[in-house]
Amino acid sequence: MGSTPEEQQNQGGRHQEVGHKTLLQSDALYQYILETSVYPREPEPMKELRELTAKHSWNIMTTSADEAQFLNMLLKLVNAKNTMEIGVYTGYSLLATALALPEDGKILAMDINRENYDLGLPVIQKAGVAHKIDFREGPALPVLDQMMEDGRNHGTFDFIFVDADKDNYLNYHERLIKLVKVGGLIAYDNTLWNGSVVAPPDAPLRKYVWFYRDYVLELNKALAVDPRIEISQLPLGDGITLCRRIS
Ligand code: SAM
Ligand code: CA
Repeated sequence: MGSTPEEQQNQGGRHQEVGHKTLLQSDALYQYILETSVYPREPEPMKELRELTAKHSWNIMTTSADEAQFLNMLLKLVNAKNTMEIGVYTGYSLLATALALPEDGKILAMDINRENYDLGLPVIQKAGVAHKIDFREGPALPVLDQMMEDGRNHGTFDFIFVDADKDNYLNYHERLIKLVKVGGLIAYDNTLWNGSVVAPPDAPLRKYVWFYRDYVLELNKALAVDPRIEISQLPLGDGITLCRRIS
């Protein structure tokens, strides 16, 4: 009996299923990283939020534990204080950020869906970091446009994590590049987009993966030649491109 394209995609085993979390070539290697270096050090509230999110029907969207650990360290390395997140879902990367910031740190967090954030919020509150978060329900672009109008907002963000609608990343970029400080970082998530950036035309990928693929390809090309930034594209999670504003 012939298998469906989806079954063919999954024939490599569980690794293929969690392909959005890791592009490593072996499931065992990824499990090794999680079990050796990530889970034993994962803060209790993050574990609670991860387990709560795993039960939600859209859990495929959550940031992986290894990527969240990386973001947490990166934020501390750059001494981030004023930050932004576009795309919150249940708040796993948001909590990783909030835990990394100093007591008076701030996160402007945006998502079109508040219900999912509300699922995670009790855990964030229990962790004692909810006061750092200014959550805005609605599309991010109008909020950015409004901020752009006041010159006092320009060059004020130390760190910005973008993990939302891929078809808007370049629109975000044109605004974020002015809102982030010179020397500050913008991190674009999912820039390897399930590995689809190199997929042949007949690859058995899910419809939404094909749909956003061209936008991700366009973003990667644009970031690669943007003279206002230095970049580093990491094969962590589903690919994360760090952009350091230089002018
Ligand atoms: N960072 C999250 C985490 O760690 O769980 C995952 C974010 S999820 C991949 C993408 C989110 O972007 C969804 O919650 C979705 O509602 C949100 N989103 C989609 N379009 C958006 C928009 N135009 N403005 C703001 N958020 C948007
Ligand atoms: Ca993501």
